[in-house]
Amino acid sequence: MSADALCVYCRQRPVDERVRPFCSERCKLLDLAAWADGQYRIPGDPIPDDSAPRRDEDDDPVA
Ligand SMILES: [Zn+2]
Repeated sequence: MSADALCVYCRQRPVDERVRPFCSERCKLLDLAAWADGQYRIPGDPIPDDSAPRRDEDDDPVA
């Protein structure tokens, strides 16, 4: 129960126990929005099928 706990989003105002660990509903919503945005923005583009190694040469029928 530290008295100087700050909002985890803005880190400037003390935490309000009703919306902790944020100082306000606004910071809570902003943090959740930023988190969700980060989840959807996956680093790196999806790998195209063209990059998959083709095995045409290895697939030589020995029969
Ligand atoms: Zn805040």
